[in-house]
Amino acid sequence: MTYATQPEASHFIDGAYVEDDSGAALPVIYPATGETIANLHAATPALVDRAIAAAQRAQPAWAALTGTERGRILRRAADIIRARNRELSELETKDTGKPLQETLVADATSGADALEYFGGLAATLSGEHIQMGDDFIYTRREPLGVTVGIGAWNYPTQIACWKAAPALACGNTMVFKPSETTPLSALKVAEILIEAGAPPGVFNVVQGYGEVGAGLVDDDRVAKVSLTGSVPTGRKVYASAASGMKAVTMELGGKSPLVIFDDASLEDAVSAAINANFYSTGQICSNGTRVFVQDGIREAFLDRLAERLKGVKMGDPLDEATNFGPMVSARQREIVEGFISQGVAEGARLVTGGGRPEGEGYWIEPTVFADVRDDMTIAREEIFGPVMSVFGFSTEEEALERANATVYGLSAGVFTRDLARAHRFVGRLQAGSCWINTYNLTPVEAPFGGMKMSGVGRENGQVAIEHWSQLKTVYVAMGEVEAPY
Ligand code: NAD
Repeated sequence: MTYATQPEASHFIDGAYVEDDSGAALPVIYPATGETIANLHAATPALVDRAIAAAQRAQPAWAALTGTERGRILRRAADIIRARNRELSELETKDTGKPLQETLVADATSGADALEYFGGLAATLSGEHIQMGDDFIYTRREPLGVTVGIGAWNYPTQIACWKAAPALACGNTMVFKPSETTPLSALKVAEILIEAGAPPGVFNVVQGYGEVGAGLVDDDRVAKVSLTGSVPTGRKVYASAASGMKAVTMELGGKSPLVIFDDASLEDAVSAAINANFYSTGQICSNGTRVFVQDGIREAFLDRLAERLKGVKMGDPLDEATNFGPMVSARQREIVEGFISQGVAEGARLVTGGGRPEGEGYWIEPTVFADVRDDMTIAREEIFGPVMSVFGFSTEEEALERANATVYGLSAGVFTRDLARAHRFVGRLQAGSCWINTYNLTPVEAPFGGMKMSGVGRENGQVAIEHWSQLKTVYVAMGEVEAPY
């Protein structure tokens, strides 16, 4: 089976597809060719209202189910996603341009992981009991209510599931707005949740540009907002949520360091640097785009990297042999090309790439800069494309100071065979996710999120439950009530 790229309708509200073609046009482009593969519409304010109302209506009954019952539905949805992994992956490839080789293992499957994990945790939600002499206190873990998820375009299915799974496990309902660039797969998640037994209204999808997201965040009926996006958007969404005293999770951008010491396994370090910069054509928030290589192995590292980059295979993303896809959009490619020009203008040494392969679609070559200085634009700003910057360093202290010299704090990696140094170094890194002798592994069991400007709160892991629920404290008196008069 293959999914049609044109969905039945643009939105999924209260258990059914809904269209309103008075909403702004939202064309969906296949990034590998530039061809339009679907025509959707942004939600009108009336549809946003309808989606929130549906989520609000559905929430009390959803929360009244036992955690085991909610969890069973989420785990069933995970099974359906796994059974349809190929169809979902093909759709994700058409929506994002990412090679099927990647989407088959990293997108729908990681969404299924989240539904399975939080489906399991749902049955374990509980409060505590605190004895106070004869009196006692108990706490109830309660849902927040109607929640909003807003997604970026790089991992559409994963982002929808990383938000929906813990939200729904805790008894919340959700209105999710995918990125306008990649709107297709969240609709499939909504369909599959219904098929798995979720009542209508528990998970709704509305399409739209930034203003639809802003409308959702601003609505008084919404208790929590979880955004995956850039820092500038995060600032606006956080500010708007704050005025309504809403809980937030902010998964934002990064400019993460990957520090490679002389004693590291060169081959593994090169592999990690490739994964940390070129997987998903560099469109990953946690990428290690500042690669610090200790002086003793820097030239060897660059030589081996150049050799390994000969293995890049661009081509039809639906061909499973292709391992490097296009950028998601013409606009994103322009932004990345602007950074590459700036890197050259500011004096970084372009080692490889930087150009556009011929043909249709939004292709760009994997690009490596060496001799990068910390004050250059490409060293400071998030590029969100396949551009690696390589820096030299001599001492551990220097590497640490320079690695932390950024406003971001999403991720970081260190390569060394000296494990005492690895733990010492990681202990002082200012980053939410750190890797020792690997990079970018983000299983659902691991809390994920940023320090500094990279975000607020954490997704995944057991801690996500704290971010999708609230505690009610109940004090129970067993004796007489004393009063002063
Ligand atoms: P973006 O900030 O442009 O958009 C993100 C989402 O926010 C989109 O759905 C967009 O429509 C919506 N939006 C825009 N303005 C809004 C507003 N005023 N109110 C409410 N919603 C609004 O980001 P993008 O270009 O889609 O994605 C790339 C960015 O996302 C990068 O910075 C990347 O690092 C970040 N990202 C972070 C993570 C993470 O988990 N930390 C994961 C993936 C991507």
